Amino acid sequence: GEVDFKGNVKFAEHLKEKGEAVSEFAKTKSIAEQRQYLPIFSVRDELLQVVRENQVVVVVGETGSGKTTQLTQYLHEDGLSTYGMIGCTQPRRVAAMSVAKRVSEEMYCELGDKVGYAIRFEDVTGPNTIIKYMTDGVLLRETLREADLDQYSAVIMDEAHERSLNTDVLFGILKQVVARRRDFKLIVTSATLNAQKFSDFFGSVPIFHIPGRTFPVQIMYSKTPCEDYVDAAVKQAMVIHMTCGPGDILIFLTGQDEIETACYALTERMQQLEASSKNAAAPLAILPIYSQLPSDLQAKIFQKAEEGVRKCVVATNIAETSLTVDGIFYVIDSGYGKFKVYNPRMGMDSLQVFPCSQAAANQRSGRAGRTGPGTCYRLYTETAYLNELLPNPVPEIQRTNLGNVVLLLKSLNVENLLDFDFMDPPPQDNILNSMYQLWVLGALDNVGNLSACGRKMVEFPLDPPLAKMLLMGDELQCLNEVLTIVSMLSVPSVFFRPKDRAEESDAAREKFFVPESDHLTLLNVYKQWKANQYRGDWCNDHFLQVKGLRKAREVRSQLLDILKAQKIPLSSCGSDWDIIRKAICSAYFHNAARLKGVGDYVNCRTGMPCHLHASSALYGLGYTPEYIVYHELVLTTKEYMQCVTAVEPQWLAEMGPMFFSIKDSNTSRLEQRRKQNEEKTAMEQEMEELRKKQLKALSQ
Ligand code: ADP
Ligand code: MG
Repeated sequence: GEVDFKGNVKFAEHLKEKGEAVSEFAKTKSIAEQRQYLPIFSVRDELLQVVRENQVVVVVGETGSGKTTQLTQYLHEDGLSTYGMIGCTQPRRVAAMSVAKRVSEEMYCELGDKVGYAIRFEDVTGPNTIIKYMTDGVLLRETLREADLDQYSAVIMDEAHERSLNTDVLFGILKQVVARRRDFKLIVTSATLNAQKFSDFFGSVPIFHIPGRTFPVQIMYSKTPCEDYVDAAVKQAMVIHMTCGPGDILIFLTGQDEIETACYALTERMQQLEASSKNAAAPLAILPIYSQLPSDLQAKIFQKAEEGVRKCVVATNIAETSLTVDGIFYVIDSGYGKFKVYNPRMGMDSLQVFPCSQAAANQRSGRAGRTGPGTCYRLYTETAYLNELLPNPVPEIQRTNLGNVVLLLKSLNVENLLDFDFMDPPPQDNILNSMYQLWVLGALDNVGNLSACGRKMVEFPLDPPLAKMLLMGDELQCLNEVLTIVSMLSVPSVFFRPKDRAEESDAAREKFFVPESDHLTLLNVYKQWKANQYRGDWCNDHFLQVKGLRKAREVRSQLLDILKAQKIPLSSCGSDWDIIRKAICSAYFHNAARLKGVGDYVNCRTGMPCHLHASSALYGLGYTPEYIVYHELVLTTKEYMQCVTAVEPQWLAEMGPMFFSIKDSNTSRLEQRRKQNEEKTAMEQEMEELRKKQLKALSQ
């Protein structure tokens, strides 16, 4: 598809003047002056007045108006930090880290001192911390320890419009905190205008608007649907770079792979231009940003480019509202994003690419109008925008697995989840399904109450099956080993596979393979790294990502702290690794699959086909056991199993009696399926009965 950009030359002239003015500003103004220039500063006193007079306030303002960086500081300056911390939650970890860093600079202190952040497995706060940025998941877990959040004088629920699962649960929980603690302030922020719903939820609380300061953005639609938006985005960026005036470019793609591909292609084109040298192009700084990007590289997107260098930021939807990069004049929008959805066929959540909503598309284009009038190139047609995009995104709570949330609410003594104060209650099926899965894992008893095992599982900031795996490691006396595996599964892949050295790196990876298990392969990698004194150069030599391994080591030590606090001793199975496979099996038997053909398996319960991935040890060594369990399914061209381990059929029968039995394996599959359905229906009926009973009790 071709993008229409006529009339751009004159427009570019206009931008040029603006661009110069803006970069001049950032260069010459001190950090304190920059604070005063933000739109929120002009309403600081009125805003504080409203906060003093109300316990809950909804604050609405354009992205970049200063909500995230300034609100915490204003509350601190107004004296709230004298009796507790000021917390600010973010749906995304990258935002929590980067904003905390910025605010520590604005307050002239070290990060982790007065200003800090906490994300899962990483706590950069200290005894002096008064302003704490954190993911919404972290605050949610803190409510387990301290239901009234006594450490906090105020909490800002930032980016509420994003409607992340954890934010949605926090809404209900913080509403109770507000009712119980008169000294507690709650601010809910939203970048968009659907704030009325938030206000209504808390009982018609005031909505405070920060006046906007935005410039018009010209929207250019693609004339025809575009076949390859990564390619189209790269082309469009090059056209802008070669023909338009100053101003940085921001490209929205869906994830790490696409972003890397685009950055690679952009670099290549720039090199080609340089080589042909006939029309020397101005330099282009190509800057990726996505959640798994190491934080030192993330920080780069905020750095001012050198004189005469144009920045091209290639981002996921993280740059929609969570992070603001100044100086963007051109936005290129693929119109897509990655969203976590519950996939009933796979029986689990997966990240899938979907068209974004109209609201998101408008947020994206708005990024071009922050510092002057800008242009947004939508790589889709206007008809698609009008007819195919949903007006608003679907809240995560309505589309994902609720296992963690159910476990958490149960341990907060929320007896009846169907009656919890959700702003938009999740579909009843979702709740029941998640309860069923927890029951299967033994976290809930037959009437849906938390079991002893479930109570222990809640202590770990892990998905329920991983927590179960740890506990089974204890039971089967191989906790030390299982702990390493769980930690390795909690970080991005540690194998490094550069495109230009694929064969070499594959050979290096193969040396670590344990034939019957990818999980044990991970354990092997970690053990060898340890045997080599956790050295970085050793990692480089073996195509391993040292950062990933260090992260796994950190996660490991934090999980170990929790185990110690739970008085669970660290047992080891030495070199008898078979028992480890049994521990894995006992937590992942819902992901059991049976061999069907070479490299092809089918899920034992659902009959869903799933395939060994080329990176698996089993695939590499051509070992195809009859039964396996896998960590998760990843949908790319096929349903690929990620992290696979061979298991014995009798383990499946022993561990998951509700799914499998030795005798049954000879009876027809139809019969098995009938039995499973019966079990599930019985469970659901029990849940429904329970609900009715509770409803009745409540209405009396
Ligand atoms: P909002 O939350 O209303 O979207 P923010 O408080 O995040 O606004 O941003 C206000 C300004 O602070 C932005 O214009 C941006 O320039 C600056 N800023 C935010 N984070 C950083 C950072 N990590 N580095 C440099 N500047 C930043
Ligand atoms: Mg913000």
